[in-house]
Amino acid sequence: MWQPQKVFVAEEVKDHPYTQEILSRLRQPVEIVKELPPLPLLSWAEAISWGKKTLFLTRYSGRFFRPCPGTKAYLCCGYRIFHIGQGCPLDCSYCILQAYFNRPWLTFFVNVLEDGLKELEEALATGRLLRIGTGEFTDSFAFEPFACLNPRLITFFARQDRSVLELKTKTTFIHHLKEISHRRRTILAWSLNAPSLCQTEEKGAPPVTERIKAAEKATRWGYPVAFHFDPLVRFKGWQEEYQQVVDTLFRHIPADNIAWISLGSLRFMPALKEIAWRRFPGTKIFSDEFVLGLDGKKRYFRPLRVELYRFLYQRIRRFSQEVCVYLCMESEEVWQEVFGFTPAALGGLPRMLDKAAQRVCGLA
Ligand code: SF4
Repeated sequence: MWQPQKVFVAEEVKDHPYTQEILSRLRQPVEIVKELPPLPLLSWAEAISWGKKTLFLTRYSGRFFRPCPGTKAYLCCGYRIFHIGQGCPLDCSYCILQAYFNRPWLTFFVNVLEDGLKELEEALATGRLLRIGTGEFTDSFAFEPFACLNPRLITFFARQDRSVLELKTKTTFIHHLKEISHRRRTILAWSLNAPSLCQTEEKGAPPVTERIKAAEKATRWGYPVAFHFDPLVRFKGWQEEYQQVVDTLFRHIPADNIAWISLGSLRFMPALKEIAWRRFPGTKIFSDEFVLGLDGKKRYFRPLRVELYRFLYQRIRRFSQEVCVYLCMESEEVWQEVFGFTPAALGGLPRMLDKAAQRVCGLA
């Protein structure tokens, strides 16, 4: 179970009940700070490693609930974010967060229960079907060992019939969710990858077979599940490894309990490559040839991306014709080449996913 080595607490929340609850589960030294923790005298690459062992508890004064930033250049899925905190104790070489934030530590917002849930309450009251996730700027279970937030969110979502919460993770830390009354309003989702990549590029994360076993357990507990093959990476033997993961997945999980499966190929901001090379000198995934996308991120050339997606899609379709499969951050042209249709033919990508949520989660 992950524990930070050092905890900073913003002075204004030192007496907050949630701060006190979290601190009661931690035994590490705690320092109260007026504003932000002091940045160590380290290079940015070293500061990230330091930050992964450092937790900052504070108040968030921005919007907890907001649309996913997406991008105009590629098809967006209409996802909403519930922003519980940022940073991650796992250490994936390709993690975009390394180049995204200028604060290296993990931050958790202790006012999430009063201010965050109030915003969620207002959003759900509109009666619109919303797909909401906490795993955009962190792993949805990064803070769970000491914050124990997910049982509260699951219970909260179980009280309504129009929206779903998606908790995305690479961890297997789900034992505390067994007895929660979820009413299938929470989807537990796992990021999957080729076994050799999980081993070399996803430091601290359990092997992919363990993640699938956790999803199997979640299925037994009645939760709908989802999977994200992201980032798909090309390497010698990628076909065999990805095929093995898809086959294992469908051996363990009934297709009708899968809300969706997304496919996304490796993409990264140019600044990330330098940071990743410093922090992970052995990584080879950035050595391929890449093209600059319309969103300013590097990605494989289009035919190579299409080849990856088609391979995974065809393998998935051997097991299920119904499960919703979609591409993350891709253009209509790529959709057409991979699937033979574009989301527009089905009412748009948000509509496709809404329908999948209605079918698998039993929404109104
Ligand atoms: S699990 Fe996700 S958020 Fe955490 S380091 Fe890996 S890519 Fe980043």
